[in-house]
Amino acid sequence: MSERVIPLVDQRLQTLSARLPAQPIPTTGLLNDALGRPLRDLRISVTDRCNFRCNYCMPKEVFDKNYTYLPHSALLTFEEITRLTQVFIAHGVRKVRLTGGEPLLRKNLETLVEQLAALRTLNGQPLDLTLTTNGSLLKRKAATLKAAGLQRVTVSLDGLDDAVFRRMNDVDFPVADVLEGIAAAQSAGLGPIKVNMVVKRGTNDDQILPMARHFRGSGIVLRFIEYMDVGATNGWRMDEVLPSAEVIQRLQQEWPLVPLEPAAPGETAERWGYAGPDGRHDPSLGEVGVISSVTQAFCRDCNRARLSTEGRLYLCLFAHQGHDLRSLLRGGASDAELASAIGAIWQGRRDRYSELRAFLPPENSGQGRRRIEMSYIGG
Ligand code: SAM
Ligand code: SF4
Ligand code: SF4
Repeated sequence: MSERVIPLVDQRLQTLSARLPAQPIPTTGLLNDALGRPLRDLRISVTDRCNFRCNYCMPKEVFDKNYTYLPHSALLTFEEITRLTQVFIAHGVRKVRLTGGEPLLRKNLETLVEQLAALRTLNGQPLDLTLTTNGSLLKRKAATLKAAGLQRVTVSLDGLDDAVFRRMNDVDFPVADVLEGIAAAQSAGLGPIKVNMVVKRGTNDDQILPMARHFRGSGIVLRFIEYMDVGATNGWRMDEVLPSAEVIQRLQQEWPLVPLEPAAPGETAERWGYAGPDGRHDPSLGEVGVISSVTQAFCRDCNRARLSTEGRLYLCLFAHQGHDLRSLLRGGASDAELASAIGAIWQGRRDRYSELRAFLPPENSGQGRRRIEMSYIGG
């Protein structure tokens, strides 16, 4: 195996100050970026810490006891997050996903959920409010989160074999506890639940069929995610990516699958339904999804903005710089000023990294370029 170079860099240092544009930008809900893409989906990272060390995200060699996490004073408060979310809603956001790090490590997260659940979109509807978690604390927190107004959860689980899973989370965490978390979320009514599995060739691709077998017909939607070249620390290599097309092929050797329409515009997953004896989708058997961020770019419809734990706005998962909204917030900006600043940033957005990846010179693609970490900005 070739030697891996894991650069030790702090991606958080690259910040752009968020400026107020000369002309105010009104909140019409019709904001488009430079490529005509609306702003609909906001992913909010509530912590940069995690109790797992998944080797594709927070490898132990980098995120060790000497790693410096953000101090508490740097984090956006719940009030600051809620205020910014309101401004994003005014620009057209309808869906909010809480993420991290591990979001359930953020103290009193249910208080933030309550505040966000009280907001209304421009159509007067509650937000589509969801959370991505590694499931380790879900058993304890599912009922409280539901009572606070959380609608759904996505749980990450990279295999059913205990040894494989413990190796991947690298903190010896057992599968059984995550499955109990998923069951608790199901009985709390946090559905439809999605389970995300990152597939690394040679590491957990033998878990594709057991995972599908386990979740088929359970009401839970299993989604296979291509291992991505996010960040600069996971030693990503293309030969460890198992293309989604191959995942579908493997599944089809066991069960007939039929393609389904996307559930919403800009949806990242391609959906496939398990077919019944008549060859048509049988809803009682459910569906699977594949997220092909590497082999099939979906930037054209990307309507997602990402807010980091300390209030930087990132326009792409593969961005290498963020726009500092916290300074504006803490500097006394009005809601209209915040809206203008966010509006101007979004209008200037041209990001489409996944579409360009194959054409970039090696120093600007794969792990060659300094970029934010997934554990910092969330999925
Ligand atoms: N800790 C939570 C969790 O694991 O669900 C939330 C944050 S985690 C960064 C969000 C999602 O990103 C998870 O589903 C994780 O599997 C995925 N992820 C992290 N690094 C990835 C990579 N290199 N390629 C693909 N997915 C990745
Ligand atoms: Fe933690 Fe999630 Fe990253 Fe795994 S994928 S290290 S659980 S933040
Ligand atoms: Fe969106 Fe960037 Fe991913 Fe393309 S690469 S889909 S622009 S986050």
